[in-house]
Amino acid sequence: MERQTETLEFQTEVRQLLHLMIHSLYSHPEIFLRELVSNASDACDKLRFEALGDGGLYEGDSELRIELAVDKAARTLTVRDNGIGMSRQEVIDNLGTIARSGTKHFLESLSGDKAKDAQLIGQFGVGFYSAFIVADRVDVFTRRAGLSAEHGVHWSSEGTGAYTIENIERAGRGTEIVLHLKEGQDEFLDPWRLRGIVHRYSEHITFPIMMKKEGGEELERINQATALWARPKAELKDEDYTEFYKQTFHDWEAPLAWTHNRVEGRTEYTNLLYIPGRAPFDLWDREAKHGIKLYVRRVFIMDDAERLLPRYLRFVRGVVDAADLPLNVSREILQSSEVLNQIRNGLTKRVLNLLEELAKDKPEVYAKVWSLFGRVLKEGLAEDPTHREQITRLLRFASTHEASKGQDVSLADYVARMKEGQEAIYVLTAESEAAARHSPHLEGFRARGTEVLLLTDAIDEWLLPHLTEFEGKPIRNINREGVRPEGEAPKADETQNELLQRIQKALEGKVKEVRLSSRLVESPACVVLDEYDLPPHLKRLYREAGQPVPETLPILEINPEHALLRRLKGETDEARIVDWSGVLLGMALLAEGGQLEDGAGFVQKLNRLMTGA
Ligand code: ADP
Ligand code: MG
Repeated sequence: MERQTETLEFQTEVRQLLHLMIHSLYSHPEIFLRELVSNASDACDKLRFEALGDGGLYEGDSELRIELAVDKAARTLTVRDNGIGMSRQEVIDNLGTIARSGTKHFLESLSGDKAKDAQLIGQFGVGFYSAFIVADRVDVFTRRAGLSAEHGVHWSSEGTGAYTIENIERAGRGTEIVLHLKEGQDEFLDPWRLRGIVHRYSEHITFPIMMKKEGGEELERINQATALWARPKAELKDEDYTEFYKQTFHDWEAPLAWTHNRVEGRTEYTNLLYIPGRAPFDLWDREAKHGIKLYVRRVFIMDDAERLLPRYLRFVRGVVDAADLPLNVSREILQSSEVLNQIRNGLTKRVLNLLEELAKDKPEVYAKVWSLFGRVLKEGLAEDPTHREQITRLLRFASTHEASKGQDVSLADYVARMKEGQEAIYVLTAESEAAARHSPHLEGFRARGTEVLLLTDAIDEWLLPHLTEFEGKPIRNINREGVRPEGEAPKADETQNELLQRIQKALEGKVKEVRLSSRLVESPACVVLDEYDLPPHLKRLYREAGQPVPETLPILEINPEHALLRRLKGETDEARIVDWSGVLLGMALLAEGGQLEDGAGFVQKLNRLMTGA
């Protein structure tokens, strides 16, 4: 084996990252240790997992551990593990490039707030490079488990543009990272400072972190190194749960709630599930992995086991430790495992019950949950018919009720306030809360004092078909044909009939029908939709996205009492009747967030009418 030494350039992104790391994240330098310990722990997890299939990888040493060592004279701090190690190619791939797309997001998400930015590092998997916050040279000595001693690798860099890599002899498997500390970073040579950092950030790493005893050669363990979820609930305090969450899921925000259970019976497992206190940056990224950490009898199996919870609960973080799965379980096996189906059902119920308890006992906390994750949770209406009823109870809406602020009204609240004789729950979908509140459709309901729920998330239009009733009351969208404030449909008298026909003729080919409205009070006209028609604001969104939009014509409803309509009634000039009618329709479409096919034509009509031309 030749001792080939190479000098290689860092990938551009790595250089950017290093620059950033060194120049903007120095205010929290200690996070580098959390990152290196976390990598060492991952390496131990990986070895333990691979060794399930090939016990020889342990090379006779199956006590996995992490070790911290300081050399005050040389001013170095070493982080060592006997985990999986890396081959030469793995070193090049892992410590010279950034494979993950997360880094781009990371660079974009930097807020300029140093504390928050420092926290971001862990989440985006760019942790190793944080070593250069405190070190002006980093040496990595490593050998992959299963390769022979001459396949050791030495990587070295000063964190500028390049690094060197050479082959070395290395008896022990695993990785040793030696940090040559910068001037002024001597605090990281102090064993007590290091213990404090470990306690703060790495207490819940499940492998022992060892350090020499003060003044001796003997090693001692400086973290708890037990699986928190396996401990009895009675022993655990709120802080324990919170700290475990922050350390395990790299979050600086405390979770809003959690549920910790040991389930016995047909399938045995322990779960510890959390509702985070903030939304992850990739909550809406369809490619992103979201899921639960899966352990089998304390052995870490995989991150992001997305099969353990339905997609609409993807904001939940946590750990599941199953007793009845094989240790060599793969994602493929998980797809079809009956045990897993049972766990998934169990976990889904736990989370929904937890949310329901919060909604009942801690409405302020639930309001936060809803504001962060409500839009995700709603997807469950379509995705999970089994739990639809329970999800429906968890929904919150903006409302025309005077006490409502933001999305805070439940269907139960609404039903409790329904008026004598009111038969349906009325909702209005619109592009935004402001658009909903100004919608002409609301006028008749407002005049009669009937509450309307305002559905303003883009997804709402799609969910309504899955939300047809609540406690036996039908749910009706008031921008639809046939849905009107309680009472008879108005009947047109002869002169009104003539007016309707006039407008209809003027708008030939642009509307399906023109009719009198019982929903309007202040506005001259509005458009209503057949049950399955797309509302104007969605048509516009689709067109903008280049999607084909089915051509459906709206129904125009008019308010014959309005001054504009009275004026139109008295108009005799044909051309002007056409202009007035066109303007009426245009205004009604605009009020719904729609788009005018011929904006210039609309403006010309208005111009002619306003100038009396
Ligand atoms: P992440 O841990 O999120 O993948 P890092 O920058 O912390 O990102 O580490 C990059 C990669 O380097 C890791 O994914 C791993 O493959 C490798 N690595 C880092 N430290 C070790 C280690 N101690 N043992 C083995 N591999 C390591
Ligand atoms: Mg890492």
